[in-house]
Amino acid sequence: MMASTSRTPSLASTPRAFRRAVSSLSSRARASVTRASRVEDADDAESRERLEALRRRSTALLERQRLLTERLERRRREREGENDANREREEAAAVREREEAEAEAEARRRADAEAAAASERARAEREAAEAAEAAAQAEARARADAETPKCRERLNIVMVASERARAEREAAEAAEAAAQAEARARADAETPKCRERLNIVMVASECAPFSKTGGLGDVMQSLPKALAARGHRVMVVVPRYKEYDDVYDTDVRVTFNVLGHPTEIGYFHLYRDGVDYVFIDHGAYHHVRDGIYAGDRSDAMFRNSMLCQAALEAVWHVPCGGAPYGDENLIFVANDWHAALLPVYLQAFYRDHGKFEFARSCFVVHNMAHQGRGPLDEFYSLQLPEHYKEHFVLDDPVGGECMNVMRAGLRLSTKVIAVSEGYAWEITTDMGGWGLAPTIREFGPGKLSGIVNGIDLDEWSPELDCHLDGDGYARFPPRGDAFSDGKRQCKRALQRQLGLAERDDVPVLGFIGRLDDQKGVDLIAEAEGWLCSQDAQLVMLGSGRGDLEDALRGMENRHHDKCRAWVGFSVEMAHRITAGCDILLMPSRFEPCGLNQLYAMRYGAVPVVHAVGGLRDTVQQYDPFNGTGNGWTFDSAETHKFIDAINHAMCTYRDFPEAFREIQARGFERDLGWNRAAELYEDRFIDAKYSW
Ligand code: ADP
Repeated sequence: MMASTSRTPSLASTPRAFRRAVSSLSSRARASVTRASRVEDADDAESRERLEALRRRSTALLERQRLLTERLERRRREREGENDANREREEAAAVREREEAEAEAEARRRADAEAAAASERARAEREAAEAAEAAAQAEARARADAETPKCRERLNIVMVASERARAEREAAEAAEAAAQAEARARADAETPKCRERLNIVMVASECAPFSKTGGLGDVMQSLPKALAARGHRVMVVVPRYKEYDDVYDTDVRVTFNVLGHPTEIGYFHLYRDGVDYVFIDHGAYHHVRDGIYAGDRSDAMFRNSMLCQAALEAVWHVPCGGAPYGDENLIFVANDWHAALLPVYLQAFYRDHGKFEFARSCFVVHNMAHQGRGPLDEFYSLQLPEHYKEHFVLDDPVGGECMNVMRAGLRLSTKVIAVSEGYAWEITTDMGGWGLAPTIREFGPGKLSGIVNGIDLDEWSPELDCHLDGDGYARFPPRGDAFSDGKRQCKRALQRQLGLAERDDVPVLGFIGRLDDQKGVDLIAEAEGWLCSQDAQLVMLGSGRGDLEDALRGMENRHHDKCRAWVGFSVEMAHRITAGCDILLMPSRFEPCGLNQLYAMRYGAVPVVHAVGGLRDTVQQYDPFNGTGNGWTFDSAETHKFIDAINHAMCTYRDFPEAFREIQARGFERDLGWNRAAELYEDRFIDAKYSW
């Protein structure tokens, strides 16, 4: 029992322990009462005594239970009080926390709002700046747009490059692009725009760099570009002698009646430098790939007839960037006798039948000596109406009656242009007309004129010339001290390459040209003795007639210490000789224009020329008293006069170097480009357009 009492929980115990203690006391009291009631029934004294004890005990237990219950109740109330205080504290803390959180949230909201306002302000400012920038760019683009010519057709161009090389190339390209843009802007500013936009189709048997045997190829390379730069739409039509890089097959095939044979040709196309190059493809051209004028008379007639017919219809068939030329504002330009059938076909096959009503043809005479003469009955193979025959018939006092293709071309074209003013006059003379002077003299007023060729300064400028890279040569500017250094270096390189003594003080004389009667090579051969007795060096490049090739080789063999003859056709050597020689010889018996004297001037080589045709128009005799002139001329094709002119040039070179330098300077300061000539051609074409 005592043990039970001693286990009564203290006030420090938990309420649950109290409750357990109270409940144990209650059950013990209840057990005592039960036992007491059971004992009550006993009637003996001992039992009553036990009963009394039990009653006391149960009363005591009940009393203890009551006390414990009161204590428990007190404790509960105390705890409730504590809980209330705690709750209040907690509530207060919660309120504080809430207030703090709200304050913090409010601060955050304010900060967010301020940040949002600031970012909104920044965005507005940025947008305003961007709008201003965009407006400025749009204005700059519009300005550039107005100044920049538009592409003919917009292409998506995919350029593939290796990643490593790209960065370097991009930097180089950027610099190059800037330089080009500047050059273009300069050229653009210098290049006047066309008076009236024309569709111009130029037709020839050769066009450099695809095919070239002489000056015609050079003109076809540069005049179309110059016309395109003035704003005209320009097509060049030439034979496809072989495969050319970047030229694609249009898949257009057309069949023409060529000298009585149905003949299918293909059109190939290349767009470059603003010009549409259209190549006529047929096996007959492939056969002469190594000598484009090879074959007999009927071969040549077949090729030329095919070229002219295909050229006339190229304006309808060749897409040229999706927009064929059509027949509006159309000027066909036939060059030399190879294209002379074009004006004839234009009239006979089309205009007489109401087609190409507003198209006109112009004929450019590069060389009157080649006319396409043949037997008269050849006319019938051309499938032309009988009344056209009179245009072809030439009753020549020298050659007799013949069929003459150039005559028909001259007669049936609207305008005729010779390649220099001097030559335009010469071909009206019996000496210079090669039998066609009477035909030309029959022309109505304004039909004939002369325009001196220009030169392609991209191809023929010493500062841009890729043929001067390597072998000790050097590009050089055609001006200032750098000119003298560059020229000297090229001269030494030429002497070294050809195995001549490397000397600055000896004048190097050059000759470049076709080896035939025209170029006056025989005058050089006749002057051999005198030339090779001089302290001078002679370098000659040419190909053509066998006897003249042999004459050149003979000179080299006899004077191996002073003379070199390069027999063959080498564009690179032509450039190197022009750059390396001091004096260029052009003793041509006749020269429609001549390009070599113009190239020579650009490279600081002083020309010595026979004053005929274009040579007379472009080279002025040096006058030491007035300090004028850009070369030396002689007035008739006689050896002693030629020698005399060379002698003057060499004396000036040796004894008056300052005067020689001034002559060189006057040469390369001259405007040699195509701009002026292209403008004059344009005038002629516009005149043709309005001629009936
Ligand atoms: P033509 O047209 O009468 O032949 P030009 O002086 O008008 O004479 O033009 C000749 C052109 O041909 C020039 O570009 C000249 O450099 C070039 N040429 C002539 N003969 C050769 C040759 N053997 N090798 C390289 N180019 C040559």
